[in-house]
Amino acid sequence: GEVATMMDVPITKVISVCMSLGIMVTMNQRLDAETLTIVADEFGYEIKFITTDIEEAKEVVADREEDLVFRAPIVTVMGHVDHGKTSLLDYIRKENVIAGESGGITQHIGAYGVTLDNGQKIAFLDTPGHEAFTAMRARGAQVTDIAIIVIAADDDIMPQTKEAINHAQAAGVPIIFAINKVDKPNANPEKIKERLAGMNLLVEDWGGKIQSHDISAKKGTGVKELLEKVLLEAELLDLKANPEKAAVGTVVEAFLDKGRGYISTVLVQGGTLRLGDYVLAGKHHGKIKAMHDERGHNIKEAGPSTPISILGLDGAPTAGDKFSVYADEKEAKQIAAKRTQLMREQSVRTQRHITLAEIGRRIALGQFKELNIILKGDVDGSVEALSDSFSKLSTEEIQINIIHKGVGAITESDVLLASASDAIIIGFNVRPSASARQLADKEEIDIRNYSIIYDAIDDLKDAMEGMLSPEM
Ligand code: GDP
Repeated sequence: GEVATMMDVPITKVISVCMSLGIMVTMNQRLDAETLTIVADEFGYEIKFITTDIEEAKEVVADREEDLVFRAPIVTVMGHVDHGKTSLLDYIRKENVIAGESGGITQHIGAYGVTLDNGQKIAFLDTPGHEAFTAMRARGAQVTDIAIIVIAADDDIMPQTKEAINHAQAAGVPIIFAINKVDKPNANPEKIKERLAGMNLLVEDWGGKIQSHDISAKKGTGVKELLEKVLLEAELLDLKANPEKAAVGTVVEAFLDKGRGYISTVLVQGGTLRLGDYVLAGKHHGKIKAMHDERGHNIKEAGPSTPISILGLDGAPTAGDKFSVYADEKEAKQIAAKRTQLMREQSVRTQRHITLAEIGRRIALGQFKELNIILKGDVDGSVEALSDSFSKLSTEEIQINIIHKGVGAITESDVLLASASDAIIIGFNVRPSASARQLADKEEIDIRNYSIIYDAIDDLKDAMEGMLSPEM
């Protein structure tokens, strides 16, 4: 309706253009940016997008090169269950005591920082696992710079090890392998490296580029060297931030403390956060009344890559929400209100993620270059066969990426990855779990189930040619 008025054309004409694109709309519906562009073009208009989100507009202001300084890497620990993620995080938490500090880290605030002997810092996200990592990404937050993937040397590359690798790769986050439990008599780190090589993941010992280190999270052997490798990787990444501006960053966790009110742990990613700053985080806002670090100390300011728990917001934002600081309380409140409204509207917006039926249209428009697929099947043989066949369907116009494949039911973690990477999920003789189904409905992820290999291949082919008949 609004866009029709702006272009001074009848609403029915706009609706019929949308219908010709295969989109059924009502006059009050919001269109996505891509559809808007095409619709406007039909009537000879060009759309220029400006952001209604003042905060986003603010972030767009690029930092000047001379204001940028090195910032510490932010690390997530992932890996298969029982391979030692928690033990590694615990060991680092306990052992890395800043010179002159009595006692280690006492508070669990969702993230913590450590300082090594040479004064260099690393920030760890204290919720291990790729689910938390990808859930944040699905909300649009990329916080992690480096992923440590823990693999038990007395075990093997397990399904969740593969998942963790795929999730990190889909996010473009470099991996360092921590081959753990080398204190065990039956530990065989070489076998793990060989298995990794078999997956085309060559670690340095094997002539590759991926760093790895043998450790015992229980005894602490090799952990220091592992952290040095993290810093080396960070150096290559050339991580920088401007500490001199109003703070921006991401919420890591938040909860209501009965006595003290809402407590949120945030990770500062740019600028410096100060006591008394007026903060907007997701839909919530407030003036910072107190700030604490992971040692329970009162803190007055926190620079880039510093995790800090803050008191003073009027509610609990969600993990993955961005936060920023406002000079003006009134402005922050206005944006909070506008955001609440936008979120409500977005929940009725059409088509947030790619669907098989949409592919042909998007390819025809020429803006769609890569199709991400997550493939789950009942047996390895069919997963591999499908994965090969799908990859071969890549054309000059469109590249098909199998960002994750595996044996087993479609899980919530698969749906989160699809949401974070805008992928479709294809199941072969497997179905989504009830919770995965629910999440897929909410995130609007297309899940297709097949039991005949050729049907799956034919559907994808048809979809790429825009010939797929809609699923009933
Ligand atoms: P997570 O599920 O990946 O977080 O694994 P945990 O850290 O909970 O470890 C699972 C089990 O392995 C626990 O019983 C740990 O004590 C044990 N474990 C972890 N790291 C080591 C290690 O380096 N050596 C030995 N021997 N046991 C370990």
